[in-house]
Amino acid sequence: MADNSNLRFDGRVVIVTGAGGGLGRSHALAFGARGASVVVNDLGGSTTGEGASNRAADVVVEEIRAAGGKAVANYDSVLDGEKIVETAMKAFGRVDIVINNAGILKDVSFARMTDQQWNLIFQVHVEGAYKVLKAAWPIFRKQKFGRIINTTSAAGLYGNFGQANYSAAKLALVGLTQTLALEGKRDNIHCNVIAPMAASRMTETILPPDMLASLKPEMVTPLVEYLCHEDTTESGSIFEVGAGFVGKLRWERTGGHGFPIDKTLLPEHISEEWAKITDFEDGRATHPTNTAESMEGIMANFENVAEAS
Ligand code: NAD
Repeated sequence: MADNSNLRFDGRVVIVTGAGGGLGRSHALAFGARGASVVVNDLGGSTTGEGASNRAADVVVEEIRAAGGKAVANYDSVLDGEKIVETAMKAFGRVDIVINNAGILKDVSFARMTDQQWNLIFQVHVEGAYKVLKAAWPIFRKQKFGRIINTTSAAGLYGNFGQANYSAAKLALVGLTQTLALEGKRDNIHCNVIAPMAASRMTETILPPDMLASLKPEMVTPLVEYLCHEDTTESGSIFEVGAGFVGKLRWERTGGHGFPIDKTLLPEHISEEWAKITDFEDGRATHPTNTAESMEGIMANFENVAEAS
């Protein structure tokens, strides 16, 4: 096992999107303090995506520099991801780590949601992450090193009232993470996704003050640092993190029920076996980790021929 008594990022270049406040600021400061050169990206708009200002990114750059670190600001939207990567290349000559953290909310019940509210959330979270990664990917491949963190949400993993747009976009980032982990493996590019919980302007109006006091962004960042270190091999994984708790998430599938492949399958048959189809506690549940394991149940049932038995 690697010596992890002093996880450093000297010589590494990190892009943190949406780093002008909240979680992104915490990530940027931490990488800066551990030797990385940081691109502090932030458009400087409101939580719902209105307006723009250079100030958010500038303040964090000043904080990193004041602490003796190296940082530059970038004010582009993540939708112009190639410009953010360009800033890194111009200032520091390389990119090693991308933290896709920028995000906004357009909370509204599905009944009232407009196309614009749906599209904007997908643009910032999904297209934004795509654009930054698409520009960084060839650099990662060439140098045979890359670390990526995408930021999902409990709303994406479980759903949340009033957040159909945000939930769908956030779960899209889980799929992106898992596929990039597969495609990046050969080139030492690792990609993980976190579902954080932290006090920020995004949550300060939703969560009670006593809870917010325990939810420091600094309690999320160390997982991000660990996952992005050159010695860390973890990839393609989902983590829930906040208030000092860190846990990994996975899929679980019931043992299910196999119906004969050569007999007509009716909804009444499904009804008869419903208890078995949905039973996670009968000792037959499994945890598929890839599409091959996902198909095991279906493939095994190819042999389930009623006529032969
Ligand atoms: P925040 O509002 O403090 O930070 C988001 C930052 O992204 C802001 O500084 C904003 O200016 C920036 N941003 C927005 N749109 C941008 C764009 N197009 N280009 C560049 N920058 C842009 O909120 P936060 O809580 O720190 O959120 C950080 C991330 O964590 C988000 O993706 C959010 O969805 C996710 N998240 C947060 C929580 C939580 O508990 N705080 C929970 C789940 C997920």
